[in-house]
Amino acid sequence: MKQHWKILIWLIAGVVVGFGLQQFTDGPGSVGTRFAPEPVVADGVAVGIRVDAVLQDQLPKGRNASEGLQVGDVVKRITMNAGMDDEKGTDTTSTRALEEFLAQRGAGGVVTIELLSGDKRSALVALDPESTRARWLAPFKFIADIFMRLLKMLIMPLVVTSIVTGVAGLGGGSDFGRMGGRTFGYYATTSFLAVGLGMLLVNILQPGIGARLGISPDADFGQRSENWLDILRRMVPENAFNAFTGNGNMLQVIFFSLIFGFFITKAAEKQRNFMLDLFGAAFDVVMRMASWVMLLVPYGVFCLLVKVIGETGFDVFRPLGAYMLTVMLALIIHSCVVLPLLLKVVGGVSPLKWVRAMSPALMTAFSTSSSSMTLPTTLNTLEKRGGVSNRTSSFVAPLGATVNMDGTALYECIGVVFLAQYYASAGDFVLSFSAQVTVVMAAFLASIGAAGIPSAGLVMMLTILSALKLPLEGAALLLAVDRPLDMCRTVVNVWSDTVGTAIIASKEGESGLGDGMVTESS
Ligand code: ASP
Repeated sequence: MKQHWKILIWLIAGVVVGFGLQQFTDGPGSVGTRFAPEPVVADGVAVGIRVDAVLQDQLPKGRNASEGLQVGDVVKRITMNAGMDDEKGTDTTSTRALEEFLAQRGAGGVVTIELLSGDKRSALVALDPESTRARWLAPFKFIADIFMRLLKMLIMPLVVTSIVTGVAGLGGGSDFGRMGGRTFGYYATTSFLAVGLGMLLVNILQPGIGARLGISPDADFGQRSENWLDILRRMVPENAFNAFTGNGNMLQVIFFSLIFGFFITKAAEKQRNFMLDLFGAAFDVVMRMASWVMLLVPYGVFCLLVKVIGETGFDVFRPLGAYMLTVMLALIIHSCVVLPLLLKVVGGVSPLKWVRAMSPALMTAFSTSSSSMTLPTTLNTLEKRGGVSNRTSSFVAPLGATVNMDGTALYECIGVVFLAQYYASAGDFVLSFSAQVTVVMAAFLASIGAAGIPSAGLVMMLTILSALKLPLEGAALLLAVDRPLDMCRTVVNVWSDTVGTAIIASKEGESGLGDGMVTESS
């Protein structure tokens, strides 16, 4: 059976099994942020990246996490999930630890997050580790974790070897300039198109006006400011070797690899050839490892979806339905109309053929919520099924995985304007034209600065909210529905990377794009 059908079948099976476990086993209705009907008083309630905070063990005996927090509960420990480094959850009870955590994640040092307290109404609900459902989900979670760790293991070696060989292979002359110009031109154009579309839809549909969010509209709209030069500053590593030690520093790694590859072309012939051979050989080996991991994709996707759907369910979507619909609509228009038109008109490639060829990468993106974790699959798919040359794909795709995020860009706009609309309709906030321009620019930069890891977009949204002087609390609400939206926007991010690669490949004179899969079977 063809790989894409196999993955699709396992993906659907994962949704069905996850939903079945969610419905028929014992555990909270859904894990996520709850909107308590009465004010919840807690000493500290997480405003977090993911929602698997360990709360059950702090609840008094006989209470179920599904009831959420109650007046008088004191949360002693909050586990912030680091997303990419799942294993390194950060325990925190202080805003300072939260700030550090977010700074590490690339949201800049300016983010201040108040722990929700007093009359705030949202509370985190966690899956009780002793519940029947948690026990059922454990083996799926185990396999999903191993699958994700395999993908993560490959990210850094792939990014370094592919960018260095890609840039060095271009020869440092006019080829490099042309390919670089086209690549960044494509990234900037599609990201701005995405931002524009997001802005248009959120202003037409106005999902935030009159929304019942259960958060106080009388916030303090002042004080904070943001320096956007920080994103540029953070691109330059202080210590190159430190940059290589964490999957969150991808912009720094890319920056270093681009320059390193470029200067290989300037080295004397002997050294140049040696370096080209060395990095070329390493890239070849890592790509073989990626092909091997590809064989696991269907089963990894299955286990990931059982875990995600089994934990989260669909209940969490209700309060934020209009917002979600707006994001989904924008994602659909961008990926099904805007990008295919560009692919057809500028690249001369059939969008249908291309989407079929790219489907393994898109389905991996959907289940991992991470462009970086998808990169091994993306590169493999581009070369084996897309028929793109190694020269083009190894330059365009790794850069795109970190820098080009159309789905994230439009999501930032919609999320921020949605909250601004809410505060404008319920409180004193004024959403001026200049504020909207700020959102456009900030969303564009945020999509570049966001790491290709789960929920990175939500973290970046905090920086835009502070630029607009809006309270950060709103982002905590959006957290409840972040996972499904993250899955979808990551698909669009990866789709845009592959469309860009096809367009640039065709401009470089490559033909037969999308035909590679004819030879594929398994
Ligand atoms: N998860 C997304 C990605 O990896 C980024 C985001 O959170 O928007 O592409």
